[in-house]
Amino acid sequence: MELVETVQELNHVLRNHRNSIIGFVPTMGYLHEGHLSLVKKAKKECDFVVMSIFVNPLQFGPNEDLERYPRDLERDFDLARQAGVHVLYHPSIKEMYPNEPLVTTTVSESISKVLCGKYRESHFDGVATVVAKLFNQIKPNRAYFGQKDAQQLAIMAQLAKDLSFQIAVVPCETVREEDGLALSSRNVYLLEEERKQAVILSQTLSEVKSGLIARKWQTPDEINNFVRDRISTKPLAKLQYIETLSYPDLQSTTSLYDKQILVALAVFFGKTRLIDNILFSAEGESHVSNNDEIQITSGNRYRS
Ligand code: AMP
Repeated sequence: MELVETVQELNHVLRNHRNSIIGFVPTMGYLHEGHLSLVKKAKKECDFVVMSIFVNPLQFGPNEDLERYPRDLERDFDLARQAGVHVLYHPSIKEMYPNEPLVTTTVSESISKVLCGKYRESHFDGVATVVAKLFNQIKPNRAYFGQKDAQQLAIMAQLAKDLSFQIAVVPCETVREEDGLALSSRNVYLLEEERKQAVILSQTLSEVKSGLIARKWQTPDEINNFVRDRISTKPLAKLQYIETLSYPDLQSTTSLYDKQILVALAVFFGKTRLIDNILFSAEGESHVSNNDEIQITSGNRYRS
């Protein structure tokens, strides 16, 4: 595995692989099994895998955890190498933003001002801008994103489509701890008692899924109220939002059983903000299936 830090080095390393299927896994590092599951899928479907590690200042608000976001490049290097990544791209902030960018990518409010976007001012504009830059620098054929960040995944598929990137956006299922907690780099912030109580997110979502399968609810409000009640049983948990929307268009919906829906929540434990979600569709698909690319640009040679 090669570690590269500049666009120039990246071009040099990738010049002999332009006829290969290049898979791309963008991350902010502090790798865990969730990130590595994206690599695993990319390895299965591509000849050559590039992972990026870049904590993107553009997507952090002034009161968020940019400075204290966990970082450990040495450990990440070993994990990525063991997982079979071919190129680990770790640009500096100066490399990515040599000057304050005057042209950036803006995501429509209809999909960026719901869920996390309601509370994270210009977060998705920052994500879309950095991912567009990374797409242009790496020029992958396929890019892998976790369903754990379902809103991000939907927006990335829209980005690829609307800006005509010839890149397949591939969704990957959420990887969880044994007790159900979704893996996240931010889980290391949790104190012992917070970690215990944090299991309420996945437990509640799994009850929601069972309830949906049993057609227990008829409206999003009923689900949202159920989730509010459940989260309030944990004294350290502070619910930021719970929303039930259609997916991937992220619109309000009155029906639960005639389209795919997303039930997503964000919960604070102290300063640590955790998110989780489930996707449900009455046709029997309660998650994005492994082969279900949510958007593939026309003319992509590598549709699976
Ligand atoms: P991050 O480093 O948090 O920006 O995440 C990088 C990529 O890994 C994103 O596409 C995330 O959705 C994905 N990811 C993060 N956590 C998980 C998880 N528990 N399971 C699957 N994918 C994940």
